[in-house]
This record gives sequence, C-alpha cells and structure tokens, in this order.
Amino acid sequence: MNIVVLIKQVPDTTDVRIDPKTGTLIREGVPSIINPDDKHAIEEALRLKEKYGGKVTVLSMGPPQALDALRESKAMGVDDNILLSDRAFAGADTWATSYTLATAISKVGDYDLIICGRQAIDGDTAQVGPQVAECLGLPQITYVRKLEIEGKTVTAERALEDGFERIEATLPVLITVIKELNKPRYPSVSGIVEACREAEYPVWTAKDIEADPKKIGLDGSPTQVKRSFAPEPHGEGIILEGAVEDMAKDLVSKLKDDNVVR
Ligand SMILES: Cc1cc2nc3c(=O)[nH]c(=O)nc-3n(C[C@H](O)[C@H](O)[C@H](O)COP(=O)(O)OP(=O)(O)OC[C@H]3O[C@@H](n4cnc5c(N)ncnc54)[C@H](O)[C@@H]3O)c2cc1C
Repeated sequence: MNIVVLIKQVPDTTDVRIDPKTGTLIREGVPSIINPDDKHAIEEALRLKEKYGGKVTVLSMGPPQALDALRESKAMGVDDNILLSDRAFAGADTWATSYTLATAISKVGDYDLIICGRQAIDGDTAQVGPQVAECLGLPQITYVRKLEIEGKTVTAERALEDGFERIEATLPVLITVIKELNKPRYPSVSGIVEACREAEYPVWTAKDIEADPKKIGLDGSPTQVKRSFAPEPHGEGIILEGAVEDMAKDLVSKLKDDNVVR
C-alpha cells in the first residue's frame, strides 16, 4: 500500500501572537515542530505499511527550514520525504496551498491513501485536506479516529460532537485524522542516525511539479486578509459551583445585580 502523508511545520505553541503593527505572526523565540495532528498521520501510515507493505511518502510545503520536519519524519521511519519550496509559492492561502500539494501528489503518483492531520495549530482552518481531495477528485473521510482497511475497502470511524459515524469508502481515498487515532512513536536511535546521514532531501519547485503559475502563491490565492489582530481579553469569567438549584439562584441574582434581568 502506497501512502502519501501531508505534514506542516508550525510554531510550537497554540498561543499564536500577532504583531499589532504588521499583522503578521511573531515567530521569534518560538521553536518549530511537526503539526501535532500530522504526527498521528505519520504514525498511521507507518502502521499500515508494517501491516500491508508498500511505501510512505511525506510531502510538506514551506520554507527551507521545514526540512527539519522532514528529518524528523525520516527518523520516525518514513521512506521518502519531499519538500515543496519555491518563492513562487509564497503568500499562498489554503486554496493555493491545496492546489500545490495536490499537483505534487499527482507527480508522486501511484498512491492508495492520502493522510492529513485534521487541522494545523497555526492556520487552524482544517481546509487543506478536504480541498486536496477535491483537487484530485478523491473521496474523503475527515476527523478519523479509527481506521480499518480490508482489500480496497476502507472503514473509518469519524468523530462527531456527540458520537461518531462509521463510513465506508473504496481506495484511493483521502482521510484527515485526529489524535484519538493512535499514539505517535518516538524516532528510534537508528532512525535519527539515518535521518542525519541522509545528505539531501528532494526539494521540488513550481517548475518541477509543472504547477500553473496562476494557481500558486499570492496570484493563486482568492482569500484577501483585511486585518489580523489578537482579540482584546474579556473580563475574568465566573464559575458557579454547587447544587444545580443553588447555581441557578446565584445566576439569577448576579444577572439582577448587573441589570441584565429585573
Ligand atoms: C491570504 C493568506 C495569505 C497567506 N500567506 C502566507 C504566507 O505568505 N506564508 C505562509 O507560510 N503562510 C501563508 N498563509 C497561510 C497558509 O495559507 C496556510 O498556512 C496553509 O494554507 C495551511 O492552512 P492551515 O494552516 O489552515 O492548515 P489546515 O487546513 O488546518 O491543515 C490541515 C492539514 O493539511 C495539511 N497541510 C496544511 N498545510 C500544509 C503544508 N503547507 N504542507 C503540507 N501539508 C499541509 C496537514 O496535514 C494539516 O494537518 C496565508 C494564508 C492566507 C489566508
């Protein structure tokens, strides 16, 4: 089974700070990591490879420093690690990012399964996986917390707010995964040595993947960001405790005190 995993390098924090003057992310002093959901995507791909054989290829689009994320996935046991990096990709919104990743996946070719994380902790849109599936004309199952594959049939449990759905699809398919799916392995010592020994990781440019210049980077991005800002903190919240009746009485009296109700 040949599997492609999409990973994104992100700042190691969910407390993303924005420079109020420029409206851009403050990256100084914040180390970069593999997006947490994407580690679960790598883990699932490695488990499937161990069970069914085949190959795991990781793709990441980002600046040259994203090679660190590829080294880490190599150390975890991934076969091929490819970086998509080109000035022409800069300024991409999620749509241009998805087109670029889908075009690169077509160049990789011969895949049965594509695995993405549900959501990146910096951009947070959860749009890239579904959009890549649309670009490639593939079925998609999002929020996967349990996965089984028998022959060409994929059965997945898809988490919902109040339960789950069981969905069946036929390979090839794209799935986005959540942390409940598995526990990512630590890189082995031999994996780390091998990842450091690897002299070069392939870096593909827009030309290499034969991307349409009008569909990548800023030119290919229909999203227009008017302003980025950190919302003003609200006043401290109050937590009511005790029996339900007492909490209800407390609530009514507080709302009366604040003239919200009479
Ligand atoms: C108008 C606009 C301009 C932007 N300009 C820039 C810019 O100049 N530079 C910049 O760095 N970002 C820029 N971004 C952010 C960039 O578009 C997003 O980081 C990217 O599209 C991924 O979206 P997300 O973070 O919401 O990922 P999500 O959709 O939340 O990610 C879901 C999953 O998709 C996969 N995935 C997401 N991104 C990648 C990736 N890059 N490589 C491989 N897999 C991936 C991962 O598996 C991830 O878990 C811009 C965004 C907008 C809206």
